[in-house]
Amino acid sequence: MINLSQAIGRIEPSPTLAVSAKAAQLKAQGHAIINLSVGEPDFDTPDEVKKTAIKAIQEGHTKYTAVDGMPALKQAICDKLFQQNTLSYQPHEISVGSGAKQVIFNALMATLNPGDEVVVPAPYWASYPDMVRFAGAQPVIVPCGHKEGFKITPLQLEQAISSRTKWFILNSPHNPTGASYTLEEMKGLAHVLKQHPHVWVMSDEIYEHLLYDGVPFQSFGCAAPFLKDRLLIVNGVSKAYAMTGWRIGFGAGPAELIKHLATLQSQSTSNPCSISQIAAITAFQSPKSLLTKQATIFETRRDFLLDHIEHMKGLSCDYRPAGAFYMYLSCGDLLGKSSKGKVLSTDSDVATFFLERAGVALVPGVAFGCSPYLRLSYALHHTTLEKACQAMGQALASLD
Ligand code: PLP
Repeated sequence: MINLSQAIGRIEPSPTLAVSAKAAQLKAQGHAIINLSVGEPDFDTPDEVKKTAIKAIQEGHTKYTAVDGMPALKQAICDKLFQQNTLSYQPHEISVGSGAKQVIFNALMATLNPGDEVVVPAPYWASYPDMVRFAGAQPVIVPCGHKEGFKITPLQLEQAISSRTKWFILNSPHNPTGASYTLEEMKGLAHVLKQHPHVWVMSDEIYEHLLYDGVPFQSFGCAAPFLKDRLLIVNGVSKAYAMTGWRIGFGAGPAELIKHLATLQSQSTSNPCSISQIAAITAFQSPKSLLTKQATIFETRRDFLLDHIEHMKGLSCDYRPAGAFYMYLSCGDLLGKSSKGKVLSTDSDVATFFLERAGVALVPGVAFGCSPYLRLSYALHHTTLEKACQAMGQALASLD
């Protein structure tokens, strides 16, 4: 048996990917499964992006590139940040990685030491605390319940910060709840951070273009320009341009930090895929109308689900998700009920119940550090969502 590192012993396989794998396995065995655990848009990558990639292969852009992104892509990212977010960054302040996930990983690995702390509001994207633990540091989880709209308050942030805090991670629009911070709310958090100059901020803005009800996107960079020298903005093409498989994400931050992300990347993946980088330039330069069209489709699906969930006894979504493509359904009223003699005691039990009795895969809230909830992704076609609601309704009716 191999002797494993202490670091690997501190983390778990990604729970959301695990649910998706289980759903895929059941599907392969012939079960009709609707996978509402997915974390990627069901749309296809835009044609223009695909064409650019094919051309890039034909023209021989198939070799190593600069470690943390080719100059043309870094420039396209700077242009995007300026045009869409009114933020001014230079190419040497940009780090491109294989997905936003690698950028976040690099940043945490390059900066954390044992004993350091990272403030992570819960519910959280499941990878943040595990990455922090992998680095030997401590996630400080701040429960942000339904009453706070699943958002951290300035007071909670103030109370969570200690002399050991290295990072505060903010994600808006938010996975898994769809919550979105207003400019005023961000300013409130920034005011607290101003008093603690040793704390860096990681603003994960990967769901930037998925916002509904006419709510404008706010980058933390705009809310707190005075924190620029300790802010890392993380974003990418995965969610906005349906490019999850292409693996391109970026970080924008102080050159001093960016330099070290490149060092780490140079000793791990060398560079993000050359073809994907060229494709990402086209994505960043594509017309805004493409993004608006997708957001409108997601908004319609969200509204459809909000109407239907209301009639599902035992499930509720009594807040209105403002963005991303997730809903965080409270399932507390189902705990204690039983299905075929088995009592549902946790949200994991409820998720298993829906998988087995309705053929619908959902992620239990425990994966995001906030129970009893289920994360439902509506990155699926309207008719599939309709079928899922029907199957879930029937399963609920069978409960004792
Ligand atoms: N951040 C959040 C909040 C996410 O939900 C995800 C993906 O699910 C990522 C980052 C990673 O994005 P990428 O696919 O670009 O690595």
